[in-house]
Parts: sequence; structure tokens; C-alpha cells
Amino acid sequence: MVLPYTHEPFTDFTKEENRKAFKAALKQVEEQLGKEYDLIIGGERISTEEKLVSYNPAKKDQVIGKVSKATQAHVDQAMQVAQDAFKEWRTWSPEVRADILFRTAAIVRRRKHEISAWMVYEAGKPWSQADADTAEGIDFLEYYGRQMLELAQGRPVNDRQGENNHFVYQPVGVGAVIPPWNFPFAIMCGTTVAPVVAGNTVLLKPAESTPIMAYKLMEILEEAGLPKGVVNYIPGEPTEIGDYLVDHPQTRFINFTGSRATGVRIYERAAKVQPGQTFLKTVVAEMGGKDTIIVDKEADLDLAADAIMNSAFGFSGQKCSACSRAVIHEEVYDEVLAKTIELTKGIKVDHPVNDPYMGPVINQKQFDKIKDYIEIGKQEGELVFGGETDDSEGYFVYPTIFAGVDPKARLMQEEIFGPVVAFAKAKNFDELLEIANNTEYGLTGAVISNNREHLNRARTEFHVGNLYFNRGCTAAIVGYHPFGGFKMSGTDSKAGGPDYLTNFLEGKTISEML
Ligand code: GLU
Repeated sequence: MVLPYTHEPFTDFTKEENRKAFKAALKQVEEQLGKEYDLIIGGERISTEEKLVSYNPAKKDQVIGKVSKATQAHVDQAMQVAQDAFKEWRTWSPEVRADILFRTAAIVRRRKHEISAWMVYEAGKPWSQADADTAEGIDFLEYYGRQMLELAQGRPVNDRQGENNHFVYQPVGVGAVIPPWNFPFAIMCGTTVAPVVAGNTVLLKPAESTPIMAYKLMEILEEAGLPKGVVNYIPGEPTEIGDYLVDHPQTRFINFTGSRATGVRIYERAAKVQPGQTFLKTVVAEMGGKDTIIVDKEADLDLAADAIMNSAFGFSGQKCSACSRAVIHEEVYDEVLAKTIELTKGIKVDHPVNDPYMGPVINQKQFDKIKDYIEIGKQEGELVFGGETDDSEGYFVYPTIFAGVDPKARLMQEEIFGPVVAFAKAKNFDELLEIANNTEYGLTGAVISNNREHLNRARTEFHVGNLYFNRGCTAAIVGYHPFGGFKMSGTDSKAGGPDYLTNFLEGKTISEML
């Protein structure tokens, strides 16, 4: 019997022994920076001439690692290997497949600080954010392993007199996994191991900014005993292999998390049946958000300010769940804004190795984009806090608050993916909800209110996939808060939820006359 699932606890960094252990892990990782990494296809290491170079976003010239770049020929090779591996892997029992995930989780747990330390360097994650990311990766492994054991039972269907019926799930084939850089361990791991524990095989194309995190998972999966060819590691340029992977006639599913533009592109391309293709492709696309915290007139205003501050600025707002809009009842608007500014003043921005609250943003492209939005914000509202940026050493953007922004303004409508939050005012609860729903996205949202009737209305009228009451709108926990959005936020796949694995399974009915 496997133990019941509980989520992995976070490390308490107020304890000196934990701080010491983490510093030692940072040192150990620092000594390993700058190495070269190969492609892994069918367990075989393949080195290419051209490299993808991963840099520290806090220290632009520090090379984290150099990774071989897959070409279209490598995609073909990996696809063939994955097709062969699929024939074998699908016959392994769900119990044995789940055991490999449990063993992977155990290894990650033992190397927890080391994995987090890699993230501090490669993604610019502050300690506690990196620690939560590694913990979430462990959670995905533990949770999906257990979900597979449950789904392996099939679902009950009725027999009739003289007829015996079964409904079972089976894997679908070979898929492409295209994860994001913002949860470079957790989401990369979850989106890979979910289809795999369901009996599929995959081609993993890691995010260009964080390929080393994915290489670390490959090493651990191998150590845990995952057969060769079940996960193939093919980092590369999206322009060279992205469309090719999606369009490939043998790609049965695409498991994508990332920007809306790329998600929509994948969705459209995958719909086209290619010559030689013998199935319809499944697309799981988790995309952006423009997430709102609404604050009612009757509410705990300290809690509201704390929720807005942490949801807007945790990991520099680089979460699709991040709060980028705070919509406040006019009677408490000034107070909530003042309290949020006060809390934000306490935010320390520094190199992530020094354990600040906020580090840099991921790269020049994102830095430039956020900077542009700060300029737009100055036209559209009043800059009441922050607004500074500095890319001399790393890509630092300081926490920024705009007030008095029109609900239809660009700052209130477009995803920024940075530490920028816009405040708007509403007259009553109807208007709070109306503004909260007026974007094309529908991922997360929170209501800060002590009014039971209003909370009850929000259950049906606040149109988001993850709705939170009297807390922030980030930090979903696997197995507790299944995660995924409505509208242009994606296919609502609900990662870390009880139905997630069915995205990578097909139901089969078997009926026999007795
Ligand atoms: N699951 C994360 C959260 O609840 C966000 C995931 C993402 O940004 O892609 O904050």
C-alpha cells in the first residue's frame, strides 16, 4: 500500500542549519557552472557543434551551462526511438511505472537543495521560490504516481444480463513536452512525468532559458531506472525544431505550458492533419493570465495588502497566476493602496544567491518588455511606487505599483509577466466582478471579503479556473488546488488534479457476450 499523498513541506530558512545546508548547495553548484551537456536520445549522449548557452539572469556574463542543440534530424531520430520505446513501456504495469516516479521523488528529495540551488543560478529564483519549485516537482511525482494507480482500475460500468463490460484506460503514444522557464523544475517535471506514468513516451524540449534544470531531471530519471528512450532530451531553438515537433505526423500529443502566442500557434498547427498522420492530436496548452485580486468593502485590509503584494511580486511576478490587477472597492481603495505600498517598501531586491525577496527577471527580452509596460503605465495611470530598472549586471526590475488605472487600459488587459501591478477602483461588488471578468484571460483570481453572500456570488460569477477566497492568487499546491485556466488562459487541464492524466490516456470499452 502506498502512503496517502501529502504535499512536500517547504524548507524553513529561518533555521540556521537549513541556511547552512543551502549555502553549501549553492557553493557546490557554483563549482559546476559552465559545463557542456549533450542531447539524450534513447539514453545515448549526442554532442552537437552548435550550443544553446544558459546564463545567470542576475549576472549576465555567468554561463550556467552549454547545451547541445537538436536539429530536425535529431527530432526524427528521437521520434523513432520513442516509438520503439512506447511499444515496450506501455506493457510495463502501472504499478511499476508509478514506482519509478516514487523513486525519482525520493532521489529529488535527497538532492533537494542542490536542485533548488541550480534554479537560483539558472532561473534567478530566490531561495524560498526555488525551494517551493523543487517541492512542487516532488509533489507532481508523488501525486501522479498515485493517480495512475487509481486510474489503472478503470472506471466502473454496468453489466447487463449475459454481458460483461469493462472500461479501461490506455496510453496514446508519443508526445512532445514543451515546458516553460518560470517553473523550470516543477512544471517541466510534472508535464513530463504525467504522460510517462500513463504509459506514453516523450520528446522533451526544455525552455531555452533553463535547459540545465531539465538535464538534471534526465539524470535522476535514469538513476531511478526509467528505461532508455521513454524520455528523450532534445533542447533546441523554437524556430528550428518547435513547429517541426508539433507538426510531426507521429506526434500524438503536445503538452505545452508557456506564452499565449505560442500556445495558440501550437493549437492551430496541431489541428492540421498531416500526410501520413493516423489520429487527431491532443493539445494541452496552459498559457497566460491577467489575474485579479478584488477587495470588497467589508474585508481584512491587512490581509488584502499582503495578498496583493505577495501575489504581485513573488518571483518578480513571473507566474501566470501572478496578481497584476488589484480592483478595490472605492471606500477602502486608499487604505489598501497605502498598505500595499508600505509592505512593498520592505521588499529586498538582490542577487538570488543572497536570499532576497526578489531577484532579476529571466532575460533581456522580458526585461525590455516589462520596461515598455512601465512606460505605458506612466501614460495610463499614476506611478505610485517603483518603476526603476537596471540591466547593467543582471535583469533587475524593481517592484512597481500604478494607481488609478482605467479597467480597459493596456496595463489592465495585457499580460506583463513582471513585478508590475495596477490598481483600479470600483463602486460596488457588481462592478468589482465586472472588472475582474473583463479580460480575455481566466486563470486565477482572489476575493478578499468578509461578506458571505458576495463570496457565494463569486463562486459562479468570477470566471477563472482557480478562485481563491481571503488569500493570494498564486501558489497552488499539487493535489490540493488543481491548476488551469479558462478562456485564453488555456485548455484547463488542471495540473496536479485528479483528471490530469486522462489528457494522455484513451478510454477503451470492452464488452463480451457471455
Ligand atoms: N502553479 C503556479 C501558481 O499557482 C503558477 C504556474 C505558472 O505560472 O505557470 O502560482
